[in-house]
Amino acid sequence: MQGNRSRDTKPELAIRRSLHAKGLRYRVNYRPLPGLRRTADVVFTRSRVAVFIDGCFWHGCPDHYRAPASNVTYWSAKVSRNRERDTETTEHLECAGWTVLRFWAHEDPESVTQKIQDVLVKRRRL
Ligand SMILES: [Zn+2]
Repeated sequence: MQGNRSRDTKPELAIRRSLHAKGLRYRVNYRPLPGLRRTADVVFTRSRVAVFIDGCFWHGCPDHYRAPASNVTYWSAKVSRNRERDTETTEHLECAGWTVLRFWAHEDPESVTQKIQDVLVKRRRL
C-alpha cells in the first residue's frame, strides 16, 4: 500500500517549505504510532499532530477525482479502499490522543500552513 502514497510530491514540498519558513519543525514521512504501519506526511511529535496531504486521485477528491476510462470498477474499488484506510488511520491516531489533519493536494499551501499553525497553537495551550 505504501506505493499508493507517493513521497515528496509538489504540494507536500510547498507546504513543508512554508511551515519551515514559519519556524515550525517537524518530521517527514513518519510513523506517528510505533505499532501502526501508517506513515503521515508531516508529523509534529511533541504536539502530537499528524498531517496527511491526500492526493486528489488516490484518495478520491470530490472535485478532481475522475475514474480512468478503463477498469472503472477496479479503480473505484481501489480508491474507496484507500478512503476507508484513511478513515481507519484517523480513528487509530485520534484514539491514541493525536490530532489528525487531512488536506487535499489541491489546497493552497499557504492556507494549509495557516490551518496547521492554528492547530499547533491550540495544542500548546492545552
Ligand atoms: Zn482535488
